[in-house]
Amino acid sequence: MKTIAQIAAELQGYDPQALSAEQVSAFLERLVQPVTATEEVGIFEGLGRVLARDVVSPLSVPPHDNSAMDGYALAGAQLVAGQPLTLRVVGTALAGKAWAGTVGAGECLKIMTGAIMPAGLDTVVPQEFTTTAAADGHITIAADVLRLGDNRRFKGEDLMEGGVALAKGELLTPAALGLVASLGLKTVTVYRRLRVAYFSTGDEILSLGEPPREGAVYDSNRYTVFGLLTRLGVEVIDLGVVRDEPALLEAAFRDAAQRADAIITSGGVSVGEADHTRHMMKQLGDVAFWRIAMRPGRPMAVGRITPSGFQAKEVSGAYAESASSYQKDTKPETGGAILFGLPGNPVAVMVTFLAFVRPALLRMMGSTRPAPPLLRAVSTEAIRKKPGRTEYQRGSVTTAPDGTLQVCTTGNQGSGVLSSMVQANGLIVLHHGQGNVAPGDAVDVMVFEGVI
Ligand code: AMP
Ligand code: MG
Repeated sequence: MKTIAQIAAELQGYDPQALSAEQVSAFLERLVQPVTATEEVGIFEGLGRVLARDVVSPLSVPPHDNSAMDGYALAGAQLVAGQPLTLRVVGTALAGKAWAGTVGAGECLKIMTGAIMPAGLDTVVPQEFTTTAAADGHITIAADVLRLGDNRRFKGEDLMEGGVALAKGELLTPAALGLVASLGLKTVTVYRRLRVAYFSTGDEILSLGEPPREGAVYDSNRYTVFGLLTRLGVEVIDLGVVRDEPALLEAAFRDAAQRADAIITSGGVSVGEADHTRHMMKQLGDVAFWRIAMRPGRPMAVGRITPSGFQAKEVSGAYAESASSYQKDTKPETGGAILFGLPGNPVAVMVTFLAFVRPALLRMMGSTRPAPPLLRAVSTEAIRKKPGRTEYQRGSVTTAPDGTLQVCTTGNQGSGVLSSMVQANGLIVLHHGQGNVAPGDAVDVMVFEGVI
């Protein structure tokens, strides 16, 4: 586990007052590690979890060479270019049963999709490419409609016995669940679920249910953060709105560090804040305060909260024998919790979460594939952009009549304007060195589908 100072020393040109988005990602990659505890869960519970062990195939899928079509199986060497081929049908092979007889020269076997290919046969002609002379038990294959090897599936084509079917670090998607089941396996070994605690700070922030008050706003960040975390499949711990009092902040950070692997706060991290949030983060942990060259979301605090006198439960051996043991209230690993101190503005919270926190949490979940690929879309409008910072504009991505992706910005791009985020189905990512965008220019887009 590296300290903030150690990581900072490793990064070229590290300046906490002027970090690029790329430097932030590089920093976080060095800061976070996957949880160590694992558990074995039933296949249904595996959805959305991260594999903690390779799934090694105990069998080959498919287990035999088999037919990909309903038709007739034959030895393909008999096919001659430019000539039809007539063969005698000697029997029928059904799916799920091996055919017992032999098929000689000048013969073929009626075969169903999925049926085992008998020894010596290597090619299947689909039924519709053949003609049958009435009742004489022969079929004729027209000239040049078939090549040797056509319509045969090989044993182990999907998976070979002893091979790695799914690697450690893979997120279990619906397809992955199906693959596990196709191997006859009922359980998977996954990392324990990550636990993330979050709270909002700021004296002007109202909890739902409180009457409106001049100068105060309702807390929206806890709800967006809740949604973002839940979609990621982590266990959430909601610590509410914490007022700007040292004792309350300290209690919240201690509680969070004890129970959670990561803590997400919003508000109170910009310079010149009159509040105690920054002070408490510094006091209870090893924390860096950054100004990131990005928009929205400039201020951010990152580090590890490890209050003195802090004692988390020791891990002993495999963390969980059963699925329920991670429900205990203290997390198993020691070492405090990773802090993501996000800015207060509602759009900045979502953008910094998507750009930095989400990939870091995925890494902590054990995933080896944290960042979804950006797509390219054509901007239908001019976008003003200063080189020297990364900008995330809220965008609406659509398919143009010619099938290409196009994107336009949604509404007021102010960092507090959540409606622009609601209308958007993606973020237009304008990179650090990029300048103004002209209509028709291609831009990178992070689409929300599959992400949030
Ligand atoms: P700060 O980063 O604390 O200076 O906050 C920046 C802006 O975000 C201020 O206008 C805050 O009122 C607003 N803000 C902070 N926290 C929240 C929250 N939880 N929900 C909605 N708005 C917030
Ligand atoms: Mg504030």
